[in-house]
Amino acid sequence: MKVLVLNCGSSSLKYQIINMVGEELLAKGIAERIGLEGSFVKHEPANGKKEVIETELKDHKDAIKVLIDALLDKTYGVLSSMDEINAVGHRVVHAGEKFSGSVMITQEVIDALEDCSDLAPLHNPPNLMGIYACKEIMPSTPMVGVFDTAFHQTMPPSSYLYALPYELYEKYKIRRYGFHGTSHKYVAIKTAELLGKPLEELKIVTCHLGNGASMAAIQYGQSIDTTMGFTPLEGLVMGTRCGDIDPAIISFIMEKEDMSISDVNNIMNKKSGVLGVSGVSSDFRDIEEAAQDGNERAKIALEIFYKKVTKYIGAYAAEMGGLDAIVFTAGLGENSDIARKEICKNLSFLGATIDNNKNDGVRGKETIVSTDGSSVKIVLMPTNEELMIARETKAIV
Ligand code: AMP
Repeated sequence: MKVLVLNCGSSSLKYQIINMVGEELLAKGIAERIGLEGSFVKHEPANGKKEVIETELKDHKDAIKVLIDALLDKTYGVLSSMDEINAVGHRVVHAGEKFSGSVMITQEVIDALEDCSDLAPLHNPPNLMGIYACKEIMPSTPMVGVFDTAFHQTMPPSSYLYALPYELYEKYKIRRYGFHGTSHKYVAIKTAELLGKPLEELKIVTCHLGNGASMAAIQYGQSIDTTMGFTPLEGLVMGTRCGDIDPAIISFIMEKEDMSISDVNNIMNKKSGVLGVSGVSSDFRDIEEAAQDGNERAKIALEIFYKKVTKYIGAYAAEMGGLDAIVFTAGLGENSDIARKEICKNLSFLGATIDNNKNDGVRGKETIVSTDGSSVKIVLMPTNEELMIARETKAIV
């Protein structure tokens, strides 16, 4: 069985085609600048060289047609016929309270996702565009929706409700949803395998630290708390997002700077985080370099970031009444030994001690980086959201 995994953004579309026999990646790629001038598809067969196909992509439908042509191409393609695509797995960011797992996409599901667009105006509309385009181009191929929010639907009300008037939850579904669920679930499952213990017996904190960053408290295989909330703005400090702040700051800035709510939203989403504090970059590599060169604001930006992650590890250990593993994943978590070391430097009291010999210089591989004597294992686990989407798609189809 071959599964096409699609992750549609507003002007980009990432894809992978995976042969589920042996979970083998056949090709991956990205369509960029959809609807803009200078659009192209970058296609990369697993056993070949990268091709850049420069062509007009008016919309997501064009992009999907071009990527299918690339998959079928005689020189750099990996399929001989479109019928080889047995199913399509779509990443969908927000499924509200309606779905606690992946589902076969039907008209009813599409309608439910349209209803959620209000909750994720930047993400759900492009996700839906991808679904509509596939429906037209390959109407008889089954499609599955895999939702970022689904894994966190097991959170209890004490984790997901805000202390706002309850009617606001009833009326508008204002509550915490959490995101990156596919990644948190994947690395939790893989960590249990690595530790050789059933996931149902473990208490794990997963730290997905990339440009967007979130953490989850996973007790016996279920998410019981997570740092992102109603939107992906809450929680950790991120590349350009502020994470948790006192909500009173918003009206204060609006008044002092004579700004609209969308101006402040723009500041909190695009100009804050480690970029805002350091003034250097949103990329942790640049900030780590600037900090090493003595840039004070870069140092502070990193310290704020590390401290926030450490605080949530402590909070989640307390919430679960213990801890078996701390898992680092995504761009920064997988690649930055400095970040892992700094975040864990005070956690020996919990039983989590990093082993510098195991941690230094290690990136992108499944491994334990805590000392042999640590009762809490510190784990580096590369995420693979696309594979998780393909697995869920296969299971449902
Ligand atoms: P992601 O969103 O998971 O793709 O993560 C992207 C982020 O990971 C980038 O913005 C970088 O800040 C960070 N990153 C990737 N590689 C490294 C590295 N070698 N050292 C530090 N940070 C890194």
